Amino acid sequence: MAANIADIMIISPHPDDSEFGAAGSVARWVKEGKKVVYIICTGGEKGTSDTAVKPEDLAKIRMKEQQAAADLLGVKEVVFLGHEDQTLEDTAEFRKEIVRWIRIFRPEILVTADPYRRYIWHRDHRITGQVVLDAAFPYARDHLSYPDLYEEGIMPHKVKEILLWASEDPNYYSDITATFETKLAALRCHESQVGGHHFPSIEQWLRQRAEDAARDQDFALAEAFHRVEILW
Ligand SMILES: [Zn+2]
Repeated sequence: MAANIADIMIISPHPDDSEFGAAGSVARWVKEGKKVVYIICTGGEKGTSDTAVKPEDLAKIRMKEQQAAADLLGVKEVVFLGHEDQTLEDTAEFRKEIVRWIRIFRPEILVTADPYRRYIWHRDHRITGQVVLDAAFPYARDHLSYPDLYEEGIMPHKVKEILLWASEDPNYYSDITATFETKLAALRCHESQVGGHHFPSIEQWLRQRAEDAARDQDFALAEAFHRVEILW
């Protein structure tokens, strides 16, 4: 039980989502002395248009890329759940798995994908966001939710706050002015996704997005989230 205690736990559907959504904030939190851990749900092995690459090889590559990005950001631990890409579902098993990791790491803050983007949104993102919200409240909190976990010594845990990236309804702007370059460096680790000639346009898009998110703030660059406080 409670082998490892984190302040902030990021739950990412695929390798690279957390870098797009939150790497600037992760770098700042680590600088501030916070312990950040990553849970990566799938290997992202379907994320290619290259018909020559085998999915099992791509999963290995992407997990290595994710570990490199996490190391660069100073993330304390990365857990790969090893689910198959594009197969996540809102099941009792997946919810319990997320509850287990919330209870093991015991973070104050969870960070994941907003499940409520309308229309086109990767199903793994939608499902992960929904399952994390449900896992945090009430399942991680209540000892009677999973008596077997309780008996294993995996104690209930109350998460205080959830930050959702890629939200259509942002209400929280995280200052990444000093860590934007680190975010780019972490993203560059995902060579199979952003490699080669793509990067300059990705960088430009991210910078524009970060400037837009900081428009009404007293700092220059932000990551935008929908922030949910759990008061109960
Ligand atoms: Zn993704």
